[in-house]
Amino acid sequence: MDFALSDEERAIRDTVRTFVTREVIPLEAEVLRRERAHQPGLDRSELRELQLKAKKFGFWGLATPEEYGGMDLPAVMQSLIWTELGRSFVPFRFGGEADNILFHATEEQKREFLIPTIEGERISCFAITEPGAGSDAANIKLRARRDGDDWVLDGEKTFITNGNDADFAIVVAVTDPEKGARRGGATAFLVDRAMGWRSEFIQTMGEGGPASLIFDGVRVPHRNILGEIGQGFTLGMEWIGKGRYTIPSHAIGIAERALQMAIDHANTRETFGAPIATNQAIQWMIADSETELEAARWLILRSAWTVDQGLDPRHASSMGKLYGAGMVNRVVDRVLQIHGGMGYTRELPIERWYRQVRLYRIFEGTDEMQRLIISRDLLRGYTKIGGHLA
Ligand SMILES: Cc1cc2nc3c(=O)[nH]c(=O)nc-3n(C[C@H](O)[C@H](O)[C@H](O)COP(=O)(O)OP(=O)(O)OC[C@H]3O[C@@H](n4cnc5c(N)ncnc54)[C@H](O)[C@@H]3O)c2cc1C
Repeated sequence: MDFALSDEERAIRDTVRTFVTREVIPLEAEVLRRERAHQPGLDRSELRELQLKAKKFGFWGLATPEEYGGMDLPAVMQSLIWTELGRSFVPFRFGGEADNILFHATEEQKREFLIPTIEGERISCFAITEPGAGSDAANIKLRARRDGDDWVLDGEKTFITNGNDADFAIVVAVTDPEKGARRGGATAFLVDRAMGWRSEFIQTMGEGGPASLIFDGVRVPHRNILGEIGQGFTLGMEWIGKGRYTIPSHAIGIAERALQMAIDHANTRETFGAPIATNQAIQWMIADSETELEAARWLILRSAWTVDQGLDPRHASSMGKLYGAGMVNRVVDRVLQIHGGMGYTRELPIERWYRQVRLYRIFEGTDEMQRLIISRDLLRGYTKIGGHLA
């Protein structure tokens, strides 16, 4: 058994680390200042400029196939890179990416939607959640009715990331209510904002915010169906599957950076004539955090490895998402505690992480949904205790 990174993995990981340290972390003070003034941390042109700088560094389209100019990296490598990005709260991600399911597009759709998204000329959003259907995504009601060469969409989506900025939405709509979404009754549509949907910003405890999308008789040409009629729910689950290892990978980076801050603070902050690090109460918080971080690291890398092996990753990635999201919440909470009153202020990014990581237990499958999947797989015998080692 070999737990080491290959030379190539280490080299790529270190290059990203250098980029984040040199180009991203120096922006943090300004990002915090802007966010305190209720402005976006980075605007669209600044993000693009940074992404083009990263492209010169060699990083463009981590998951994008080479024929579209991307790197097409294995999932383990992508996981390691997302961890590096997690080290900074600057809302930066590499350019050259598109929603994984957009690669199911027809040649014409690729020219209109996929390529401009990869190039950063268009912004997409993915919309399945509705006011009445989140965890129970198969209960969606947004209806698409055929009318000649068009489909007419009516209904509402909610909590849609990028929903306010997107030029187009990938919308999962009900095309056959008799069948139900899970059994071929839902279809994915590529819907330009210009076709008539509107968005409403939703205030959240995090920075930025998702949006509600309102469809009131929006006409969409038949050629804008993504994939096949009836394939919408499957595509939706494929879209969500990707986040199940990238989100907790990001969480590891956050937890590592925050824990280092706590260690530095514990060694320098003195109370009662000695550094607080001399207290067992503080030592135990550090020890528990490092132990949980290490456990999360291997769980999540294994779930990414499962993807690379071509195995069904769902069981492993549900465990990684469940544990990684919980871990980062517990670590950031302890880090805040170790910083005392300063941890609670907006002088430091800790309270920002505290608000940010709370989301990780909710979106792209709540903790409870992950537990449901993990236990169902075992109870129904879909998988064995011990996974691929069993
Ligand atoms: C900031 C943000 C960004 C998001 N981005 C997107 C996006 O881009 N696209 C998109 O489509 N959606 C997005 N979502 C939606 C997100 O995926 C849902 O919020 C999430 O799936 C939970 O659904 P819900 O909010 O309807 O909660 P509900 O499904 O109503 O659940 C409420 C509570 O009940 C629990 N629960 C529900 N059913 C069960 C059960 N059977 N057993 C035990 N417990 C249960 C849940 O775990 C949760 O704790 C986003 C959400 C947020 C907050």
